[in-house]
Amino acid sequence: MLTFEKLYQEGHEEVVFFSDPSCNLKAIVAIHSTILGPSLGGTRMWPYKNEDEAIKDVLRLSKGMTYKASISGLNLGGGKAVIMGDPEKDKSEALFRSYGKFIESLNGRYVTAEDVNINVDDIQDIYKETSFVTGVSQAHGGSGNPAPYTALGVLRGIEASLLKVFGDSSVKGKSFALQGAGAVGRLLGKLLDSNGAKVFVSDINRKNLELFKQEVPGAEVISVEDIYSIKCDVYTPCALGGTVNDETIDKLKCKIVAGSANNQLARDEHGDILKKKNILYAPDYLINAGGLMNVSTEFEGWSHEKSERMVNTIFDTTLKIFKFSEENNLPVYKATDLMAEKRIESIRKLQGKFIRSSSPRFPGRTRSPFLG
Ligand code: NAD
Repeated sequence: MLTFEKLYQEGHEEVVFFSDPSCNLKAIVAIHSTILGPSLGGTRMWPYKNEDEAIKDVLRLSKGMTYKASISGLNLGGGKAVIMGDPEKDKSEALFRSYGKFIESLNGRYVTAEDVNINVDDIQDIYKETSFVTGVSQAHGGSGNPAPYTALGVLRGIEASLLKVFGDSSVKGKSFALQGAGAVGRLLGKLLDSNGAKVFVSDINRKNLELFKQEVPGAEVISVEDIYSIKCDVYTPCALGGTVNDETIDKLKCKIVAGSANNQLARDEHGDILKKKNILYAPDYLINAGGLMNVSTEFEGWSHEKSERMVNTIFDTTLKIFKFSEENNLPVYKATDLMAEKRIESIRKLQGKFIRSSSPRFPGRTRSPFLG
């Protein structure tokens, strides 16, 4: 159950429920923090079993966005939304337009984007009713699908990790156990393979694996179980979270864990164990921030060059975190959280001493024909 005590504990500012029986819309928006700027985070559509499951997810994900924006140096707060429903059956133009109208009513405190099961077409329907949405199609001057920028950012994080461990940032000749041949995994696999790396890949989805093999012909498919124990330089989780856990951690034979999945450590103590085992963990919410960086450029007018420049900064930020972690003898996950929190606290103290537009603008985008 959602209680004020819970919101106080995790620091959430606002949670809003949207319902519209005419199109079966049941959506929850959680704004965790607007200290650094308007809250931004994608909308996830998922067949949650009940409201409690959806609330738990949206609270956890929105807090994660606050940390991701902060560590990435963005002037954005953290928010996230979930729509309760089956993406195969419940999607409709009416549902997304109704949802868009509700987002508009938040007046820019929350700006949405793609997340699991929400694609650029769905975003277009939301955009018909509100401008507080990013990941708008490139045809309308938006930034489109974030996955290529996420993959590029993960590559930069991997390169920084290789530099730290091997003294050379090149992926050439290094081996990768890539878990998940989906949108990000496939693009990352291509980048690794084309730069001379050896890629082992696993997925539970045969169709995605076939597509992966077509696009990354040098890759070797291995079983879902063997992905943890195969001898490699880097374990690269690009499927679900929590895969570094009690069962898998002792199987790992890699030197580095670095991938796109959110919340890779099942619990914080798994980050402590990785440190003890001398396995370098690249901070997941920093190295997968390329997609967020890309959509954030819509606030000033998107261009590929601008996005790419921003995403490339992940290399230096990752190295900065490794340095801070080493100097303070902290596991990487803890060092990353501390750096993210430090920035938020320092800006919190500035409140009122500087001027920031509270209502975001999006120059360079075509106005939706449905906006007045
Ligand atoms: P996706 O759904 O396109 O791909 C995920 C893939 O993982 C699918 O092919 C799925 O079959 C596979 N998978 C699921 N369980 C598996 C298992 N046990 N073993 C092996 N494979 C399994 O998702 P995506 O957009 O590629 O995102 C991948 C991860 O990166 C997700 O955790 C996502 O939250 C995170 N992420 C994505 C973006 C982005 O821009 N898409 C940004 C930040 C973080």
